[in-house]
Amino acid sequence: MITALAGGVGAAKFLSGLIRVVPEEELTVIVNTGDDIELYGLHISPDLDIVAYTLAGIVDEEKGWGIRGDTFHCLEMLRKYGYETWFNLGDRDLATHIHRTMLLKRGLRLSQATREICRSLGLRVNIIPMTDDRFETWIETDAGLMHFQEYLVRRGARDRVLGVKYVGAENAAPAEGVIDAILSSDLLIICPSNPIVSIGTILSVRDVREAIRRSRACKVAISPIVSGAPIKGPADKLMRGLGLEVSAFSVAHLYRDFLNVFVLDQRDEAEKERIEGLGIKVILADTIMRTLEDKVRLAKIVLRECGL
Ligand code: GDP
Repeated sequence: MITALAGGVGAAKFLSGLIRVVPEEELTVIVNTGDDIELYGLHISPDLDIVAYTLAGIVDEEKGWGIRGDTFHCLEMLRKYGYETWFNLGDRDLATHIHRTMLLKRGLRLSQATREICRSLGLRVNIIPMTDDRFETWIETDAGLMHFQEYLVRRGARDRVLGVKYVGAENAAPAEGVIDAILSSDLLIICPSNPIVSIGTILSVRDVREAIRRSRACKVAISPIVSGAPIKGPADKLMRGLGLEVSAFSVAHLYRDFLNVFVLDQRDEAEKERIEGLGIKVILADTIMRTLEDKVRLAKIVLRECGL
């Protein structure tokens, strides 16, 4: 069994390579829900949807999120009615949010609703939200405290980050299956995702970090930092705001209490020794995933390293 911890786009790209080389049924993906937000009465789970759409082959690959060929008529109409429409929701994408919200209203937990959505999309991979409980990432900035989506999408990550708050983390329990998957896996992959607001959130859910430490799996992370910077997204701003150095080393350092192997981009070779100094084995590779071949190649490197 293989378990992966995932955020959105970076993770989904890697996982779409992985499912070409391992049977979907053998893979469990634990997904960040700290980005979840309620808009127009609908429960939106951006990372769950990015992973599901990507693995189902319907994602808009240019954007990395949303559904290919989607239209935005509903949002235009909402704007006419005077609603704020800063969060891009396509018409087909909205159907997912309506469906999810209806399932939740019927009393299903988020993990059950996710299973239902994945089944309808024809997925056999087991996608689980990190928690069924309310857990929100809020960013403390020089312009005030705001929900992560407000910081990222509405304000374009332009505010200076002063801190990150995981609202609900004290009470959030791991969703059913999360701890079991971690403990029963031979391979645990930390996808190339934002270490603060995608992986950091998952690790802060009660018992998760401890289970990862205890797990006998081979634990591998792929660096989300290439040439000393994120490929996309605000990882650098968030890391800097928390007083962390923006580097691959810094990411490895965040995982040092459990990580066995770190896949470092070859462009950051200069950091190899420093990471090895943490007691972590370093594999150098080209980690930029543009084509399906790139993704498959990276997945094979991870599998080979753990003897799978
Ligand atoms: P988000 O929530 O949609 O931003 O997605 P994630 O948290 O999964 O991913 C954001 C991180 O993924 C950023 O730090 C990116 O640098 C990283 N990332 C995206 N594409 C790639 C890639 O092709 N290779 C590597 N190594 N990292 C990537």
